[in-house]
Amino acid sequence: MESEALAALHRVFGFETFRGEQEAVVEHVIAGGDAVVLMPTGGGKSLCYQIPALVRPGTGVVVSPLIALMQDQVDALRALGVRAGFMNSTQDFDERRAVEAEFLAGELDLLYLAPERLRLDSSLHLLSRGKISVFAIDEAHCVSQWGHDFRPDYLSLSLLGERWPEVPRIALTATATDATHREITDRLRMPDARHFVASFDRPNIQYRIVPKADPRKQLLAFLREEHAGDAGIVYCLSRNSVEKTAEFLSRNGIEAVPYHAGLDAGTRAAHQARFLREEGLVVVATIAFGMGIDKPDVRFVAHLDLPKSVEGYYQETGRAGRDGLPSTAWMAYGLNDVVQQRKLIQSGEGDEAFRRRAGQHLDAMLALCETVRCRRGQLLAYFGQEEPSPAGCGNCDTCLTPPETWDGTVAAQKVLSTVVRLQRERGQKFGAVQIVDILLGRRTAKVIQFDHDQLSVFGIGEELSEAEWRGVVRQLLAQGLLAVEGEYGTLVLTGESGAVLRREREVPLRKEPKKPAADRGTSSRGERKAKAAAAELPEELQPAFEALRAWRAEQAREQGVPAYVIFHDATLREIATVWPTSVAELGGISGVGEKKLATYGEGVVAVLAGLTAPGGAGDGAGPEDPGSPDDWPEEEPEPDWT
Ligand code: ADP
Ligand code: ZN
Repeated sequence: MESEALAALHRVFGFETFRGEQEAVVEHVIAGGDAVVLMPTGGGKSLCYQIPALVRPGTGVVVSPLIALMQDQVDALRALGVRAGFMNSTQDFDERRAVEAEFLAGELDLLYLAPERLRLDSSLHLLSRGKISVFAIDEAHCVSQWGHDFRPDYLSLSLLGERWPEVPRIALTATATDATHREITDRLRMPDARHFVASFDRPNIQYRIVPKADPRKQLLAFLREEHAGDAGIVYCLSRNSVEKTAEFLSRNGIEAVPYHAGLDAGTRAAHQARFLREEGLVVVATIAFGMGIDKPDVRFVAHLDLPKSVEGYYQETGRAGRDGLPSTAWMAYGLNDVVQQRKLIQSGEGDEAFRRRAGQHLDAMLALCETVRCRRGQLLAYFGQEEPSPAGCGNCDTCLTPPETWDGTVAAQKVLSTVVRLQRERGQKFGAVQIVDILLGRRTAKVIQFDHDQLSVFGIGEELSEAEWRGVVRQLLAQGLLAVEGEYGTLVLTGESGAVLRREREVPLRKEPKKPAADRGTSSRGERKAKAAAAELPEELQPAFEALRAWRAEQAREQGVPAYVIFHDATLREIATVWPTSVAELGGISGVGEKKLATYGEGVVAVLAGLTAPGGAGDGAGPEDPGSPDDWPEEEPEPDWT
């Protein structure tokens, strides 16, 4: 017999089967157990608590930090026929009262709450007067004080287990490191929880890290060549560079809006809403943007600055391609990123332990940037998981174009000796620019001013270009063979540098690509196009897909919801492929549950009925040009006079 969980999956969501760990999680929670769930973005965490909330008696209470998205989340659930509501500061008194009444009357399947609201005595009192089926703690990594999304209010969530010991709790996150995992379990006091750790691989995302030359231009070329008309997110570190980049893209014909904490709440909400509702908008943002955004068709995530940790990088890039279709995670990275981040850590607030943690995070991020191995393999290894295959993933830049390495020992010695001469002999403090100028034998004003053309190392590095020297310095910093000091980014030796100077240690380096401005390290344009097309529809089905999208856009506009709340692209693709001619047939398609079938069934069938089905079903006019005999199908086409 079909389990209640499976029945809900079919009836409400219209999905055929559970994915990966979902079934085990759902069964465990329905039986009353606590669970800690680690799944990558797009892995399907929501169903893990939504199904238990539907199956168990009472209301599922979802704690989520994403106030701005609650309305959309609830709209999406209501579109599925789920009785969902939320309580947060955006509501007025009457709206809140109405939700409270529904909860107390047992008329809600799911109730979304922000943690700061849950803490209030009034909220706790309200909850204690109703029946709760399950507590879901979404984005549970927000409890981690060391993490990048720490929310102090999450710490108070440990009281849930004390006050409602009989209600199962499920904590979910897309952050996968052991440390975060342990912290979640400890701080939420869930010692008896079962742990479910999914694979963190996101095979449809292509990871690429390119050397930074002129980042905005590189970004523009990347977008024009590979993601014209696609929706995506561009991350920058500072508000200023967010503004400038958004302006630059807009000036160059790519629709882009800024998003950062310095904008007023209204503008931020408007830009976020546009991103969710429009197709093909680019948001340029600081890390303040993106958590919980469940837009399925984000086709790329670009980083113009180095993220502070691999966790952060993985969460941000993970926002691409939730629908499983090909997507790109692209980053431009250069020497200044390393200098700047090291400086930030040193001059930043926080005690020694905090700085050490931040330094470790940065080191891991740099190791990812400088690796000659498969990026995906390195990422998964960082999260303690198996690589897809020892031969590499075939879908990252280092797999597609393996980087060359070279013996950089002599080059490293030249850089380090120059630093020694300035630092030890003269007590002078200089950054990378001066070091490179000296090595290249350039008589710049600053070189002459300090008599650096008199140094024995002046001009000893003419065998490499400026870009290559910057690459050497960058890699020495990344490997901990050089360090940065003070607010001007002075280069200084580290405890490890001596071994290189004494020739006790070799320094393998990654070769700088010849043309850093162009985006190398990837498959050719044609190859990518072909790959994307493979995931797309055969040409004869495109008109139907486009017609369905147009119909969907109209529905979304009328209802004021994002298009994907009506149907996902993947569902529309399947509809175009199956070409259902009746509402009943449409019901068999993945992503079409009971409620959506009732609401949209006739509309969808009508859209298709107005078109010519490939192969001749339907009653529209046939193509004007039958083409050459070679193009004709093997089978006799149906006569179209029926
Ligand atoms: P997460 O919260 O882990 O990032 P979601 O819960 O948003 O992921 O799910 C990602 C996507 O996968 C959604 O579009 C969702 O509808 C789809 N999905 C989840 N579970 C299934 C399933 N069992 N079958 C088909 N699609 C699924
Ligand atoms: Zn790879």
